[in-house]
Amino acid sequence: MTEAIVVGAGPSGRALAHRLLREGVAVTLVDPAPHRAWRATYACWTDELPHWLPTDSIAAQVNSVDMRSTERVAVRRGYTVLDVEGLQSVLDVSDAHVIVDRTVAVHPDRVTLRSGEHIVADIVVDARGITGRGARQTAFGRIVPRSQALPVLDGAEAILMDWGVFPGLDSQAPPSFLYAIPLDDNRVLLEETCLAGDPALPPSELRRRLDARLAHLSLTQIDDEIVSFGLLGESSPWRSEVMEFGARGGLMHPATGYSVAASLQAAEVVAKAAAAQKDPNDAIWSLSARQVYRLRRAGLRSLLSFDAPQTRRFFDTFAHLPVGRQRAYLSERENLSGVLTTMTNLFTAAGSSTRGAMIRSVLGR
Ligand SMILES: Cc1cc2nc3c(=O)[nH]c(=O)nc-3n(C[C@H](O)[C@H](O)[C@H](O)COP(=O)(O)OP(=O)(O)OC[C@H]3O[C@@H](n4cnc5c(N)ncnc54)[C@H](O)[C@@H]3O)c2cc1C
Repeated sequence: MTEAIVVGAGPSGRALAHRLLREGVAVTLVDPAPHRAWRATYACWTDELPHWLPTDSIAAQVNSVDMRSTERVAVRRGYTVLDVEGLQSVLDVSDAHVIVDRTVAVHPDRVTLRSGEHIVADIVVDARGITGRGARQTAFGRIVPRSQALPVLDGAEAILMDWGVFPGLDSQAPPSFLYAIPLDDNRVLLEETCLAGDPALPPSELRRRLDARLAHLSLTQIDDEIVSFGLLGESSPWRSEVMEFGARGGLMHPATGYSVAASLQAAEVVAKAAAAQKDPNDAIWSLSARQVYRLRRAGLRSLLSFDAPQTRRFFDTFAHLPVGRQRAYLSERENLSGVLTTMTNLFTAAGSSTRGAMIRSVLGR
């Protein structure tokens, strides 16, 4: 029987451990707090959910989301908010050997724990998340009763991004957008988000902006959410000596911050490869996937180089693309020609200064 060590029990590590167990692989899962309850609001496009994920892990679904900037566009693509508690229990790891500890060294066939213990296995997967410096995504959100959020939604089921300028916001300042999604039938999350910044806007500034944006409403806060995470995993995870997975292993889209659905999808592919004693890196890092990942990182560099008006125009253009073109860029990590077509569409529609920034980003400058 193949033996695997998975380091990190976040969404990616836990999903992988779960799928490995399903494939008959013996799993040791290491995390300093493996049963810590997840609190973040995780969402994804509905068509990104893997077929094996039961509906218990879904909290809310909508058929269409608005993108708003200078115009309002309804993107007719389903969007899902995950029930994090349900997801955590659906990703059952009760048959794994769970070690409550932190690794201090991770090698392709063994790890060393802080306790000093060494453990060996046929394969070690590093799913420790993104640490260190670099571009981040930040946000500050308030969870409010659905009835109070209706004027914000203004007929939409959810708002993916509202880049609109409001009193109290300098239109030239580094931009942020409002994200408004139902968490269930009764609650809506209203979140002011800095998509990517290096440095990113601090949550305190996003809180100020959210309150200014919603100042005309009387809101009763049920809870709040503070978001801050790194966007850049390994630059070439397929070259890493130790198999890396999840946000750390290149499954986070650096220009959007989404990774959970990609990790859920890839978990099964990696698990099947490991069970068949094939190289799991080869299974998820085809040549196309590597090139798409490089283009996505170039996409992040473009975003970081745009000023506020360029950012708003860019997302106006993006919102008007056909859903299939959007999907290729946002979700299809092996669709090189699709990603290139979308980037070409965006480039063609952009003004000359934005084009210059995009060229420099693709050239890595
Ligand atoms: C509030 C919030 C909302 C978000 N919303 C979304 C969303 O809607 N959709 C989306 O796709 N993404 C979202 N994200 C991004 C999300 O964090 C990541 O996508 C996701 O958590 C990455 O999962 P991961 O398992 O790869 O890494 P992590 O979640 O970072 O998990 C890493 C795990 O490794 C463990 N670990 C670290 N070091 C060690 C060590 N030395 N030894 C052992 N274990 C170790 C940690 O304890 C942790 O459990 C959100 C993030 C936040 C903070």
